[in-house]
Amino acid sequence: MSYSIHIISDITRWQENAFKDRKLRIHPVPKKDEIISSWIVRLAISNELTPYAFMSLHLKEFYYLLRQDFDSADKPELFKKLSFKTGLPVNFIKNLSLISYDGKIFITDYKTNKRPFLLYPTNRGGYNKSASIRYCPFCLEENEYLKKEWRFVFTTTCPIHKVFLLDRCPVCSKPLSIFVWKNRKTTHFHCPFCSFEYRNTQEYASKVPKDSKTIYYQRKLFEIIENKEFTFDSKSYFSVLFFPGLRKVVSLILQGNQKYALFVKERNILNVSVLSKTTTKSLHSLSVKENALLFTVAMDVLNSKENFDRFIRDNKISYHKLTIDRKSYIPFWYERLIDDYKTGRYVSTEEAKNAIAYLKKKGTKPNMASLSKLFGVVLDGRKRKDIKMLLF
Ligand SMILES: [Zn+2]
Ligand SMILES: [Zn+2]
Repeated sequence: MSYSIHIISDITRWQENAFKDRKLRIHPVPKKDEIISSWIVRLAISNELTPYAFMSLHLKEFYYLLRQDFDSADKPELFKKLSFKTGLPVNFIKNLSLISYDGKIFITDYKTNKRPFLLYPTNRGGYNKSASIRYCPFCLEENEYLKKEWRFVFTTTCPIHKVFLLDRCPVCSKPLSIFVWKNRKTTHFHCPFCSFEYRNTQEYASKVPKDSKTIYYQRKLFEIIENKEFTFDSKSYFSVLFFPGLRKVVSLILQGNQKYALFVKERNILNVSVLSKTTTKSLHSLSVKENALLFTVAMDVLNSKENFDRFIRDNKISYHKLTIDRKSYIPFWYERLIDDYKTGRYVSTEEAKNAIAYLKKKGTKPNMASLSKLFGVVLDGRKRKDIKMLLF
């Protein structure tokens, strides 16, 4: 008995060594926006191996990554090895990994290794237990591979096909475990539990209603990432500085600050039940549609200073609540933005406009001093250029 086990392990060791430094004769070229795990699966299948067997034979030293988040692993040796195996440039392969977003969406915190907004798989017994892999049924039908952008919590729709992304098997509701290849008869991505092929999901797709602003803001978000910059209050900044602000607004909405016209409108359009005030759920455990509502509204709040003002005023959010946790990076643009709310009540441009008209009607000369008196706060002309403009 022990003899036969010995032979098997010897054979395995022989196989491993035989494949370890052998180049792949067949390899599909990755798509530009493909995620590395999707490419690994396609490499494995086109070489007649299951993904686990492929990793064990060709990339043994990185096998352990299958139990972690393969896509956000920062392993230069892995990229080099794949480059050797396929003859593709290292940088091209590195670009398939989620770490290619470092400096665009997040700055990796190497102490915690956490990257905000990323959906993380949870591996238990080889299976992924969290709905961390989203997909567009129509994109998958046209071209069978998984996209990098689908791994972010704010990617809730496909702007090309105008549908909500799916994050589970539509038949058995299990999250996707793409490395587990149970049905050897197919070369298509499928559910390891019920064998359903995800490329046949179109009938389960749900259209984004035409009057929703979800697609508009999804595009805008992609543009910020693509262009690596965003504009706020007519100034441009690096995209990576946008995301801490977005995160803050999203958490304010989740905490119950939901008095905002677009929130009410979108909640009805998207048919999302009220996001509870006491919710302790993280973004990751919310449904795709709930995330769509949150990010659409948050993007609208950050679309202009006027929108931000209205959101703060209508929800009576204090300066203290606006500040970002000191442990994380605070972008200057956001700090400047909330600076206006530091002392007492904030007077919006609209309020100032009405007040000027009121003072004129009463026969009082409108200026910074009379306005300050009317509102009971000190209005600083150097900081409130918007009000000074109205006084000319
Ligand atoms: Zn699509
Ligand atoms: Zn299934």
